[in-house]
Amino acid sequence: MKPIEDIEILNDHSIESQPKHSSRKVYIESYGCQMNFSDSEIVASILKKQGYEPTTVPEAADLVLLNTCSIRDKAEQTVRQRLGQINGLKHQNPGLLVGVLGCMAERLKERLLEEEKIVDLVVGPDAYRTLPDLLQQADDGVKAVNTFLSRDETYGDLEPVRLNSNGVTAFISIMRGCDNMCSFCVVPFTRGRERSRDPHSIVNEAKDLFAKGYREVTLLGQNVDSYKWSEAENNKARLEKAGLSDTVGFAQLLDMVARIDPRLRVRFSTSHPKDITDDVLHTMAAHPNVCKYIHLPVQSGNSRVLDLMNRGYSREWYLEKIKRIREILGEDCGLSSDMITGFCSETEDEHQETLSLMESVVFDFAYMFHYSERPGTLAAKKLVDDVPAETKNRRLQEIIQAQGRHSLRRYQREIGTVQEVLIEGPSRRSHEKLQGRTSSNKVVVFPAENKIKGQYVHVLIEDCTSATLLGRIIDR
Ligand code: SF4
Repeated sequence: MKPIEDIEILNDHSIESQPKHSSRKVYIESYGCQMNFSDSEIVASILKKQGYEPTTVPEAADLVLLNTCSIRDKAEQTVRQRLGQINGLKHQNPGLLVGVLGCMAERLKERLLEEEKIVDLVVGPDAYRTLPDLLQQADDGVKAVNTFLSRDETYGDLEPVRLNSNGVTAFISIMRGCDNMCSFCVVPFTRGRERSRDPHSIVNEAKDLFAKGYREVTLLGQNVDSYKWSEAENNKARLEKAGLSDTVGFAQLLDMVARIDPRLRVRFSTSHPKDITDDVLHTMAAHPNVCKYIHLPVQSGNSRVLDLMNRGYSREWYLEKIKRIREILGEDCGLSSDMITGFCSETEDEHQETLSLMESVVFDFAYMFHYSERPGTLAAKKLVDDVPAETKNRRLQEIIQAQGRHSLRRYQREIGTVQEVLIEGPSRRSHEKLQGRTSSNKVVVFPAENKIKGQYVHVLIEDCTSATLLGRIIDR
């Protein structure tokens, strides 16, 4: 799943109606992937019902929650350092409660209480509904833990509280967990088995967002291509009589959301090379408001290494999927990926195959890391992390440099074209400028000309860097 890496802090103006009688303040920090950011919005919703008012100032909080990532050791070290800083706050405010949520909480469970004395509660990704009880326990001075993994929890009935929102784009989680067992990955152990959310609740959430002025939704899942929802037994007969299918796959869900309104852009993440189907690609082609962009993690360009990673596809299979995407959606479709270098026993030639695959695909951008062994994973149990650190780093630098060249090439292709851009807000660097993204998920910066966020504009692309397109609005 795509990492977001930077910290997200709640800001007051992003929270809809506050219970006036709320007397307690919660401060939430989210780390890692979009799924965690989306979960923090569910947590804020559950706590809102308990009268917790969000704050962006940790010093003002009665409750500090860190929603954590465990995908690499570095992610966990970052959280431990942050807990060290929060310790200072607890000295100033002894009544402060500190909680750790998310994948690190799920992976470490009670151990986290022993290792980090300032932590009062540890709550796994499927146990957020129990937060009110756990907080009561912690309030009574008893440290609280719940890391139960569910087979059916999707939080589908809860209305997320949009955090740090630009009011234009929003995430909608469509499923939880992952049934793939990639040998390097902790997610199946920290987020449990796959379960898909009722498509009607997803469509309703998207409709609600559109009514509130949002103009883009991203459908989220660890592997959206295995989204599959079956109607309850007692409804199957009714649907059959109406000639409706009693099973909804990802292509159908995408079609249902796209039909809400042509002014609502639809994106999704993350796809899986072994499961993405032509159906999904044809559904994307059929709807102009389904953005022409796919995040398709490859991880390695060598089939033997992919087999050790238990990815379920070969180099040839992956390149065939890229060929299908280009055939159905064209050269303009944005493509990004994830790569892991220095995986167990990866040889120099196999590393060169990752570079040559990148050369033949030319991704718009990619998330690139060297292998970080995670306790409890298949690889940690069965394989030896034998590639020396300096070799891992050198290989990582080589793919980062290659990707830099490819990104520049992909962005330069857009110069001279006119792109439809959804304005997301002011550019980070200058308030005279606005920024938004193209359908292919490229950031565009251009002079504002009295336009506002949430509007669609046509921008003539005049220049670029390897990560941003620069242009000016031309009305069509
Ligand atoms: S598809 Fe593989 S890498 Fe992605 S979350 Fe599932 S197990 Fe992890």
